[in-house]
Amino acid sequence: MRKISANYIFTGDTTPIRNGIIVLDDDGVVLDILESMNNEQHSLEYYNGIIVPGFVNAHCHIELSYLKNHIPKECGMVEFIRSVMMSANDFTLEDKIHEVKYADNLMYARGISVVGDVSNKSISFAQKIKSKIKYHTFVEALGSKKEFADKIYSDTIYLVDLLKKSSLTGNIVPHSAYSLSKELLSIICNDFKPGDIFSVHNQESKVENDMFLSGKGEMMDFVKLINPEYLEWIHPEISSSAYLLDYIPNNVNSLLVHNTELTADDVYRITESFINTDNLFWVLCPKSNMYIHNKIADYKLFESGNICLGTDSLASNNDLSILSEMILLQEMNPEIKLVDLVKWATINGARALNVDNKYGTISKGKSPGINLITDVDLLLFTLTNKSQVKRLV
Ligand SMILES: [Zn+2]
Repeated sequence: MRKISANYIFTGDTTPIRNGIIVLDDDGVVLDILESMNNEQHSLEYYNGIIVPGFVNAHCHIELSYLKNHIPKECGMVEFIRSVMMSANDFTLEDKIHEVKYADNLMYARGISVVGDVSNKSISFAQKIKSKIKYHTFVEALGSKKEFADKIYSDTIYLVDLLKKSSLTGNIVPHSAYSLSKELLSIICNDFKPGDIFSVHNQESKVENDMFLSGKGEMMDFVKLINPEYLEWIHPEISSSAYLLDYIPNNVNSLLVHNTELTADDVYRITESFINTDNLFWVLCPKSNMYIHNKIADYKLFESGNICLGTDSLASNNDLSILSEMILLQEMNPEIKLVDLVKWATINGARALNVDNKYGTISKGKSPGINLITDVDLLLFTLTNKSQVKRLV
């Protein structure tokens, strides 16, 4: 049994408890949360800083970890995709597997307990089986040529079967509005079953949106180059997120990732289209967005909804740290309350990934992992650029 205390305990869903004490069993299961240090000094571990639940990284691509420091910053969406595609053959399978292992260990050390991870291949599965992190794998489908829709679907089904045989959770998701034919989008989106989770890269760049609104721009040219069928494409004259609304399933949780170019109209339209907005999650990846676009999403557009945080991959981030994402968000939006940032970094992601029975809050019966954040400004209740995370449990 361990008893852990710090200046404040942020449970993830309650107001911070000053000098609270967490009682845990040897497996990291929370047995109790005590309000103060009365009579509980014996064998107490006391830390300076704040304690938060293990983080949830709602959007990552661990299999792209080999691309760390490989892709130029602020290159824009099309150049980023081109660089990822061109670089794939510069590394051996052993290199890629080695970097997956490194990234998994890195995330665990950074206090991440759960990851929503996008995979196009199976190279990360062996590490996920061994990992101390709980993964939900989004097996990603993409392909804009109509004739290949069935083949791509069966290839991704094969990967989902492989996951399930390995006792890993996961399901198929589409990559984005611009990278799938309507046929492939329909097959995938009609196949969601209870417990599956929808996730999509949503209105991430201006060039993506231009393709749908005006049928022009760099993304449109790139897509036409890859698939001449798009020479005949009639652009729908609606935003890329509005285009997706016909496909997003309503019976499962949906994670809309990035949202960098969303407008208030888009958010209104999306929210209205959900029967139950408890199922709708807005995932922000601020460091990745700055890396590729030098711009982040306007969180105020959906702050009344469920916001989650993601690191995206090491192809567009120098670290896989949810705390670093929180620090950047706070630097760019000093008005965000620390208690909200913690909620976005923990319980909201756990709910999005259907693991809030075990993760996301420090509550009796859960084993969320326990993190200490040091160098927090305890008067202003803000993170600082010196804040660091140390995993205690
Ligand atoms: Zn992504």
